[in-house]
Amino acid sequence: MKIFSIRGYKKSGKTTVATTLIRKLKEEGFRVGSIKSIHIEGWHIDTEGTNSYAHKEAGAEPVAAWGLEETAIIFPRRLRPMALLKYFNNDWLVVEGSLYLPVPEIVCAKSVEEARELRTGLTFMFSGVISNEMDELDGLPVVNPLSQPDKVLEIVMEKVFPALPFFDCGDCGTDCTGMAELILKGEKTIKDCVMMQKDNVQIFVGGKRVPLNPFVQNIIGSVLKGAVYSLKGVEKGKEIRIKILDPELL
Ligand code: SF4
Repeated sequence: MKIFSIRGYKKSGKTTVATTLIRKLKEEGFRVGSIKSIHIEGWHIDTEGTNSYAHKEAGAEPVAAWGLEETAIIFPRRLRPMALLKYFNNDWLVVEGSLYLPVPEIVCAKSVEEARELRTGLTFMFSGVISNEMDELDGLPVVNPLSQPDKVLEIVMEKVFPALPFFDCGDCGTDCTGMAELILKGEKTIKDCVMMQKDNVQIFVGGKRVPLNPFVQNIIGSVLKGAVYSLKGVEKGKEIRIKILDPELL
């Protein structure tokens, strides 16, 4: 899954960039998920007095608000970023706000000072209000999502790479942030993440990861790929997920 975030202060144009890119990526045929990070004290998706609120107050976790047209699964706490990511299995994940993980980012700003203040080594483009005034700043493109939607998409497609494992193991000689920055500079590629080479097969039992050495991974990977690719309609080169449920739980 490719993940990028769109950071910036209030009214800097983040939502316009996010919605433009979600639309454009959908037009390209991708499955797109999104996260809107919300930093408002006391914010709740359901309000006091609703039945789902009462379920939550009684101690249920999670609570599903199951409507005829929408479903919301409510956890009565802020999930950690990695726990939140488990719920996404899209081609692209657009994050409005910060995910607190090293992913490429677009900075939206209202002024040059704001853009420079928010820029990090993971920033690959500026956008938002500032894009009405300039098209380049400190070596990075400044792109307007409304007048140049194709250009915004083109840069995102070129710069954003599949998400790193975010293990910060250091096996590549740096951490995940350092590696993401080097990939954005074109000095490394995703293949330089040692963990991704080692961990192409992962097994979890009851949610807990079982350590596998590369030899066992190769055997399991080859057998499963052989079986799955022989099935009708299966496209090669995609992530394969297999879930085996304990019959006693069914
Ligand atoms: S090897 Fe991969 S997971 Fe480990 S620190 Fe480097 S980039 Fe991160």
